[in-house]
Amino acid sequence: MELTVKLFGEHEEILRTITNVALVKCGAIVTLTKDIHGVFEMPEILKKFSPRLFLRCEERGGGRTASGKAQIICGLSGKPLNPFHVFSNSRREFFAEKAHAIFSVPESVAMISFYRGSKNLNIRNFSLRMVHTRRYVIHESKIWSGKIEDFPVELGKYSNAVAAAVAKASCYHCREPHYIAVKE
Ligand SMILES: [Zn+2]
Repeated sequence: MELTVKLFGEHEEILRTITNVALVKCGAIVTLTKDIHGVFEMPEILKKFSPRLFLRCEERGGGRTASGKAQIICGLSGKPLNPFHVFSNSRREFFAEKAHAIFSVPESVAMISFYRGSKNLNIRNFSLRMVHTRRYVIHESKIWSGKIEDFPVELGKYSNAVAAAVAKASCYHCREPHYIAVKE
């Protein structure tokens, strides 16, 4: 999981002075670098642009003949999120276990990991925390982990996302997202 900063408008000055910048339709996205303690630092120069911070995470995974794993992203409510980008499966012939959708989420997100062989399921919460001026960490906490057959009914709000993770881990050479919000 990465931490990104979204800037709106033209920012040539920034593009010249810092790395990890990607231009997007309405501005630029800067991926912050992390030190060995897991602390992300926002460059001083970005401060004046009233930057907005986002957690950047991916749906990935897929099945193989006898194994498979999946990582599904959803809101803390269990609902699917709008992806920032979906990889078109026509662009690359084979991308099982690669990223199939990228999400850019403010504040917090839930991640569901499922391993088909061991039937292990992990549900984790990732949230953004400021630890100092311009310094942030992504705090990780466990929501639940165990065997899929022991998944508790009290966590029913995650059942659709869990079902998507289980399906994806069995989806042979999966090349598409399984759990994203559909635009109406
Ligand atoms: Zn699939």
